[in-house]
Amino acid sequence: MKFVIANWKMNGNFELVNQMMNGIGKGRDCCKVIVCPPAALITSFKGFEHDLGAQNCFYEEKGAFTGENSPKLLKEIGCKYVILGHSERRAIFHESDELIFKKWNVAIKCGLTPIVCIGETLEERDKWKDVLAAQLASYCADKSLDLHKTIFAYEPIWSIGTGKVPSKREIEEAIGFIKGIIGSERDYYAVYGGSVNGSNSSEILSIDGLDGVLVGSASLKISDFNAIINSVSA
Ligand code: PEP
Repeated sequence: MKFVIANWKMNGNFELVNQMMNGIGKGRDCCKVIVCPPAALITSFKGFEHDLGAQNCFYEEKGAFTGENSPKLLKEIGCKYVILGHSERRAIFHESDELIFKKWNVAIKCGLTPIVCIGETLEERDKWKDVLAAQLASYCADKSLDLHKTIFAYEPIWSIGTGKVPSKREIEEAIGFIKGIIGSERDYYAVYGGSVNGSNSSEILSIDGLDGVLVGSASLKISDFNAIINSVSA
């Protein structure tokens, strides 16, 4: 089974919600579709046949945190997943690995499955293993930590929204590295994100050990997103 995860970022509107509600089929057993729209659109997906996720949450369940999204409420309004530590949040909102791990803990407590994004910048490319190891350190420190099916998304920052995609061998190596340091006995998945589209998805999805893809811009066009879903082989 492969995940196909849509990250709309701060895009989309009611029209796109309707298109997605009507435009993507029931899916197949080999594919789990998760749509992560902006928080303000989540409740518009009433009766949606696939799963919903949020793009971020706060590290407390409730309280005096004006403007933040409660993980508990996200769960109550129908989210099953939450993206944490997306590179845009790390870069623009200065989110640290420590903060992301705090959010991970509260998301788990509230019954959300975290989708934790990791990945190196272009400048860090020659030391990508060190970067990924540091970003994963909190999840690796204690091998008995229950990962509760966390989805780790390898998203090289130089690939996001650029049309530049690592080679199949490079993605396979990164996924192997992630699975190697987290450990094979634990309860998690590893997906790839960065310029995935309907033309490259079947090759990417055929990578050994890869559990799916996280899709940004190509998830905003129903025909492109459908092409990615349909490229998952049964
Ligand atoms: C993302 O931002 O998570 C992403 C994968 O974007 P894109 O597919 O547009 O590169």
